[in-house]
Amino acid sequence: TCGICVEKCPFDAIEIINLPKELQDDPAHRYGENAFSLYGLPAPQQGQVTGILGPNGIGKTTAVRILAGELEPNLGRHEESPGWDEVLEAYRGTELQDYIADIREGEVTVSRKPQYVDQIPNSFDGNTRDLLERTDERGALDSLVDRLEIAPVMDQSIDDLSGGELQRVAIAATLARDTDFYFLDEVTPYLDIGQRVTAARLIRELAEEENRSMLVVEHDLAILDLLADTLHVAYGEPGAYGVITPPKSVRNGINEYLAGYLDNENMRIRPDPIEFEEHAPRAAVRSDTLVEYPDLEKSYGEGEFSLEVEGGEIRRNEVLGIVGPNGIGKSTFAKLLTGDLEPDSGDADLDLEISYKPQYVTIDQHMRVDVFLSSITDQFGSSYWNTEIAQPLQLERIMEQNLSDLSGGERQRVAIAACLSDSADLYLLDEPSAHLDVEQRVQATSAIRRYAEQQDATVLVIDHDIYMIDLLADRLMVFDGEPAEHGRAGTPQPMRDGMNEFLANLEVTFRRDERTSRPRINKPDSQLDKRQKSEGEYYYAP
Ligand code: ADP
Ligand code: ADP
Repeated sequence: TCGICVEKCPFDAIEIINLPKELQDDPAHRYGENAFSLYGLPAPQQGQVTGILGPNGIGKTTAVRILAGELEPNLGRHEESPGWDEVLEAYRGTELQDYIADIREGEVTVSRKPQYVDQIPNSFDGNTRDLLERTDERGALDSLVDRLEIAPVMDQSIDDLSGGELQRVAIAATLARDTDFYFLDEVTPYLDIGQRVTAARLIRELAEEENRSMLVVEHDLAILDLLADTLHVAYGEPGAYGVITPPKSVRNGINEYLAGYLDNENMRIRPDPIEFEEHAPRAAVRSDTLVEYPDLEKSYGEGEFSLEVEGGEIRRNEVLGIVGPNGIGKSTFAKLLTGDLEPDSGDADLDLEISYKPQYVTIDQHMRVDVFLSSITDQFGSSYWNTEIAQPLQLERIMEQNLSDLSGGERQRVAIAACLSDSADLYLLDEPSAHLDVEQRVQATSAIRRYAEQQDATVLVIDHDIYMIDLLADRLMVFDGEPAEHGRAGTPQPMRDGMNEFLANLEVTFRRDERTSRPRINKPDSQLDKRQKSEGEYYYAP
């Protein structure tokens, strides 16, 4: 077997023994001799949301540039481009035929949300209102501003917006345009779950009510499930080739992805399946206390945000998940623990050393990754460190690059590695999932868990990706209140109680996929939704 195909290679020819079936056809595009090749294209449909699920570097942007009419696909003939007529011929009889005919006529207009919203301030001067008003082609801006809760920052300079605010402004700007085809490259980074669900609903409404074609790349699987009508799975060898499968149902696409095996393609894309357990399994076994803290209060001043913390204990060796909306005081709590902030009442003098990865990763000095990481730990380069940190976080390939040249996802992985490599009593990771693709989230999740187990470390993880929190956390700490006004931090509780409290605040319930036990968001007011709410079971099946 070749390691890609599951069964023995069905073709005897030695030349193709390493190639999955799709790769024997011509690619849609090849950048050059021995350069990246893209096989297959996603097929956007009017009135539908089409999702793409797969790692970064696999050709998603290339596909979108083709669908936007910016890049003429060469069908693998990079020396002499065949031209749109021949491309149309090649796609005759496929779902893409009409779409490609429209591109050839120059009739497709496109609106696009970039992946890294943090870079928007580099290319735009002015305030939120200036940016949004230029995009208001459908007359829908007021409603978008309202539903995405952008009103409070309308007169703020784009330079001063937080990542979560920039993300919502970028989504509004993209959806306000009047085009045939909308492409959104990751909508969830820095958004809380309520905001993620709102963004998903807005995208669906534009497809359904205005009959537009929407194409979305998303790595938060619970949200992708809610968002898309059909799904293309992308796989391959980042940087070498990428294959975009024909469309699957969203349910099957995500299930096959998690199983690590694509049914129709007869293709294994990962050695092990990712499995969810139904019953909130990790009843805390070890209950050694690392630290106890009393009730605490912190306010930033008269009429400003205030936080009330219910006292609790953090256990040695646990991964404690922290959930709640943005602006509710999670970072403020973290700063009380680290001693960066003094509480107004209560004694938080914890005497603990804390290693902290902030939500917005700011390591961007002109320094090589290896130099930076070896300055943090003398374990750097040891076989233990390589196996437990560098490999799962895929750092090998970027060790010699400069921090300032890294992409958002690469910077995130370096920051997670730096946080875990420091020696400390408590590791605190704020939104480690941001900008990681779905495969990297899985790897980072297992790296963090293994690290906690093997190093006797205690890890606090703040994240909005519900699957990641489910897979990572032993117990849960829930924040609620009124964002930007007052917050309340509950004491850490078992996963099931915590998820029930958190999701009750959001009024969102999850059912279980029959085949894989994967949690799926219920339709509001469906029978299951109503029943689970009345039983108080929001996440883990009883
Ligand atoms: P994704 O959007 O999935 O991250 P891209 O489509 O941006 O992936 O890139 C896929 C691969 O194609 C990458 O390895 C990238 O380096 C390569 N690539 C992108 N543009 C070009 C180009 N103009 N010439 C050669 N290679 C390119
Ligand atoms: P979260 O981490 O849950 O998003 P934060 O703890 O960062 O929330 O912030 C909670 C609220 O406190 C927000 O409204 C934020 O604007 C406000 N805030 C944070 N830091 C300060 C500060 N130094 N002075 C005044 N207000 C602040």
